[in-house]
Amino acid sequence: MERLHNSVRPYAWGSRTAIAELLGRPVPAPHPEAELWLGAHPGAPSRLVDEEGVHRSLLEVLGADPLGQLGADCTQRWGERLPFLLKVLAAEEPLSLQAHPSAEQAAEGYAREEAAGIPRDAKNRNYPDPTAKPELICALTEFHALAGFADPQRTVGLLRALDVEQLRAHTELLAGQPDSDGLRALFTTWITLPQAALDQLLPHVLDACVRQVKDRGEYDIECRTVLELGEAYPGDAGVLAALLLNRIVLRPGEAIFLPAGNPHAYLHGTGVEILANSDNVLRCGLTPKHVDVPELLRVLDFSYGRMPVQTGEPVADNLFVYRTPAPEFELSRLQWPEGGGSPVSLDHVGPQILICVEGSVLLRAEDGSELALAKGDSAWLAATETPVDVRPATPGGTLVFRATAGACTPAA
Ligand SMILES: [Zn+2]
Repeated sequence: MERLHNSVRPYAWGSRTAIAELLGRPVPAPHPEAELWLGAHPGAPSRLVDEEGVHRSLLEVLGADPLGQLGADCTQRWGERLPFLLKVLAAEEPLSLQAHPSAEQAAEGYAREEAAGIPRDAKNRNYPDPTAKPELICALTEFHALAGFADPQRTVGLLRALDVEQLRAHTELLAGQPDSDGLRALFTTWITLPQAALDQLLPHVLDACVRQVKDRGEYDIECRTVLELGEAYPGDAGVLAALLLNRIVLRPGEAIFLPAGNPHAYLHGTGVEILANSDNVLRCGLTPKHVDVPELLRVLDFSYGRMPVQTGEPVADNLFVYRTPAPEFELSRLQWPEGGGSPVSLDHVGPQILICVEGSVLLRAEDGSELALAKGDSAWLAATETPVDVRPATPGGTLVFRATAGACTPAA
């Protein structure tokens, strides 16, 4: 049971307030703070801090004692590395539209790019590592995103409401085939439009969105999003692609799982994200970076419909688990109302990371050791740790997130 110090990633889309406020630093921060990384990613591993204030890289600690830190089950399945990365993500501006490969696609793509001799850090490298990158995002504030293809019938309604002359043929293409094949055809048409055609088309689409927003019609939120994206990424095919996706608003505690092939873009808000420790990203737009269209079309999943929103399954008093098919990770929420309640017992055998985002808690291990976590504090629990009880230490509401390797909590 050791305190963690974590790196902040200063990407330009980040918030100047959310992470600084969580960590108890002056607000606003001097530059954007996009993500707080909790884990052992080689790019920015967390550091363990002992009582004397000595820092050690979690990556090096795992390397020196993989069995003790990760446990037999985890090392057998994932080797001598932490299979997940936990983040606090704070988006002030929209992120790129992206999708991630499946395990098979990642292994195949990695082998192909290795054989072709493309350096792992090259700009045109799609698969810097051979593993999948499933993700789950859980809202801390109201959280806005685009994720998954929307029902094409609804999209046809949206396109007809926009009533853009230059989109009429595209609308009828989808209306004539309102299914995955129709979505694939229309997405492919839009993502491969020459820049000159995009530059001509997009102003008409944006004008139509302005009209919709003025009328506060059925598609108000979709049209506002297109306008926002059109301003942030002028001339980008991703602005059109956004018309095909579900516009999602998560309330605090609600989460969506993003499986392989799912197109998604986070727009605005603060959340806790858990993901497999991989960097395999295929961009679909809303980015100045290279979009590899043929590779993207191989990976994208054109199934459609509303994304299931999870609130966490209660498995014990004050403990809620977000179930996903991803074997790499599991996210749980420990939450007590004002006035507290019974402690949560963590008897899981495997590596765990905890972060306190509201109130404060006391961790007490069976061997008698204790660790207090205030808001913004986080802890590493090694696999060989004796069972730990977590209890609220202040009378207000208390909220802690817990990351573990996959499928470790029995169903209720
Ligand atoms: Zn993603």
